[in-house]
Amino acid sequence: ESLLHMTGYCREELIGRKRGELGFWVNPENHARIVQVLHDQGQIRDREEEFHIKSGEIRTALTSAEIVQIGDELCALYIFNDITERKRAEEALRESEERFRALTETTSDWIWEVNTDGVYTYASPKVKDLLGYEPKEITGKTPFDLMPPEEGKHIAEEFQVIVGSQSSFLRLENINLHKDGRLIVVETSGEPFFDANGRLGGYRGIDRDITERKRAEEALREKEEKLRATFETMSDAIAVTDVSGNLVDINEATVRLHGYRQKEDLIGRNALDLIVERDRAKAAEDIGKALGEGSITLAEYALLTEDGGEVEVEASAALLRDGSGNPAGLIAVMRDITERKKVDQLKDEFIGLVSHELRTPLTVVMGAINTVLSEQAYLSQEETRQLLQDAAGEAESLSHLLENLLELSRAQADRLFLYTEPVHIENVAQYAVEKTRQQSSAHRFVMDFPKGLPSVHADQLRLERILYNLLENAVKYSPQGGEIRVFAKLEGEYLVIGVSDQGIGISPHDQARLFGVFQRLEDSRLKGVKGAGLGLLVCRRLVEAHGGQIWVQSEPGLGSTFFFTVPLRDVAT
Ligand code: ADP
Repeated sequence: ESLLHMTGYCREELIGRKRGELGFWVNPENHARIVQVLHDQGQIRDREEEFHIKSGEIRTALTSAEIVQIGDELCALYIFNDITERKRAEEALRESEERFRALTETTSDWIWEVNTDGVYTYASPKVKDLLGYEPKEITGKTPFDLMPPEEGKHIAEEFQVIVGSQSSFLRLENINLHKDGRLIVVETSGEPFFDANGRLGGYRGIDRDITERKRAEEALREKEEKLRATFETMSDAIAVTDVSGNLVDINEATVRLHGYRQKEDLIGRNALDLIVERDRAKAAEDIGKALGEGSITLAEYALLTEDGGEVEVEASAALLRDGSGNPAGLIAVMRDITERKKVDQLKDEFIGLVSHELRTPLTVVMGAINTVLSEQAYLSQEETRQLLQDAAGEAESLSHLLENLLELSRAQADRLFLYTEPVHIENVAQYAVEKTRQQSSAHRFVMDFPKGLPSVHADQLRLERILYNLLENAVKYSPQGGEIRVFAKLEGEYLVIGVSDQGIGISPHDQARLFGVFQRLEDSRLKGVKGAGLGLLVCRRLVEAHGGQIWVQSEPGLGSTFFFTVPLRDVAT
């Protein structure tokens, strides 16, 4: 039965036929040898022989044979043990081992196996390349022995958890110590294996050296962090859009520029929607151009702020490309120029004002001198004197204005140097009052200085300029006349000096901005009082240069008092 099963023939096909007829032996010489051996020794044992079976397939059988006597006849009794499957399995195993060997040798990773205690039961030769150890130095150790102590403890705990959870896939990043002491960053991945009873036997997997990759990643991360920090701290607003103009990234300055509180309020919105209506068409055109030509454009737009206001910016944009070189969006840099525009406007106004202030007195001076020159013969002595005095007065105010301008430009350029000496404030005040009195007969000047005031260490000419500016204002802004008082008192380490008038006064709102750059208040402009809005600014610069402060107390309609302090000790630079 077994023979029939093995060969695929039926009984009738075999019985009575000669073996040669069936082409049974793959190798007929082998058969001839078997017959010879049988003849000589009476038996053979377990020879591996190959046979053709009915289907033509070749199978391998362990062949034993003996000469036996059945009745009168000598017969050869063959026993075939088909071992084809076993042979195939062995072959497959050999191949798979060969494959594994090739793999362990060609991969740059090393392959390991650990039991549930984490003890290495196998290490592939590549471990030598990675960690400097021979495989036999590794087996018996645990991975944790190959790590810096802290790391080893930590990873051992993690391994316990993984073993506890039985089947989970193992993936860890850890640090190993190379035999020579170097730190190697390793990526470990493995899978559990189970014994015949389904119990966890351990893990098998590979360790990969990712030190270089980590270093590169770290370098990249650092670079990115630096760029991000620069991006965020830039005072210019930077916005990145996609090709449709939707915001994909912005820095803090952009959020501030638009008056929002967080980036999320703006990300995803279209850049055009954040530009005021009247500039939108031009902006769309510029954006299209930048996207098309990749060019950088410089243009001014007004942007919308959260509260519905506007902010003027100067923007430039550059094209961003994706990995394949196609346009991916734009990066725009915007600078807030609202302040600059305001200053520009202020400057223009100021130049206009100063030119006017310069021309008016000059006209008077020239007119007077020309009259004296051409009409000399017809003018009385008194008339000539009056004309020249007018000219002198106007020349004086011209020179005053120019001095103020000079002081300001020195202060601006940080070149306001003081020439200090011990100064008696009363003398200086006296001089400034006299100068002012010559211009105004409508006012009564009162000096109020307590006896025995100490001298201050100050720049005499500058103190006089401060007082003269304040007195001039007191005269200008109390058109109805009245009393103008100059006083001083000692207060701690400071001398407080004041000039008060009974004039039009200043509203609390205006008081706050009085000492700013080129500030003239609406009232004084309306009333046609001359002035360039320089005096108080000059006072402030000079007082501060002395280390003092200046302020005002005033009630509209009742008058104003301007105070300033000068330290008794010399703190000026
Ligand atoms: P100006 O050349 O216009 O006088 P100032 O800087 O001296 O420039 O003064 C600034 C503004 O402060 C003046 O335009 C005026 O509106 C206001 N001001 C200054 N002094 C007085 C004062 N004593 N009384 C009322 N207003 C004053």
